[in-house]
Amino acid sequence: KTFEEFAISDEIVTALTSLRYFHPTKVQEEVIPLALEGKDVIVESQTGSGKTVSYGVPLCERVDWEENKPQVLVLVPTRELAIQVKEDLMNVGRLKRVKATAVYGKASFDTQKSELKQKSHIVVGTPGRVLDHLQKGTFKIEEIQCLVLDEADEMLNMGFADQVEAIINFLPTERQTLLFSATMPKEIERIASFYMKSDKQSIV
Ligand code: AMP
Repeated sequence: KTFEEFAISDEIVTALTSLRYFHPTKVQEEVIPLALEGKDVIVESQTGSGKTVSYGVPLCERVDWEENKPQVLVLVPTRELAIQVKEDLMNVGRLKRVKATAVYGKASFDTQKSELKQKSHIVVGTPGRVLDHLQKGTFKIEEIQCLVLDEADEMLNMGFADQVEAIINFLPTERQTLLFSATMPKEIERIASFYMKSDKQSIV
């Protein structure tokens, strides 16, 4: 299978080719079509499976460049991952000029605040700092159409459950939610059943 077989634009396929991604991984083969359809998806997947590109492709495909407010929020457990995911998404969306902004703790709030004022199609962040920006009104969420919870079990292990739930409660309810986790403890299932559509698809 090749990326051309998905209903994605040439710009995304060309960007993937220049990253030397020629064939989708198993998780990409399963997640991309469902996510393109707008389905909520819950995915049990490890780091190294290609999960970032599995949500990066449908997210970059759906981004409307003209819209100035963020359209996608990706929550991750660590700042390192926030920076990495931001880079990965901008690489996948490079030919569409998709702009991603990373927000995370132990870095200047005001610098991130001014970055969030510029065009940011996608915001990638750690829960504490994302919630801080939401509460201070420096992150405009009314155009968010898609939420990704990446390494959801790790976020819970790090004690971010309350922040994650508080963030979800800020977001428009009319949205797509994609959840990725290496393990599926009860708490993840609870969050999924509470905050994701009842016709969500599960991928193992
Ligand atoms: P991830 O699971 O998102 O951490 O990705 C693991 C690694 O696989 C990353 O270094 C990606 O650059 C790489 N990767 C993702 N998708 C593909 C693909 N379709 N073909 C080859 N490498 C890939």
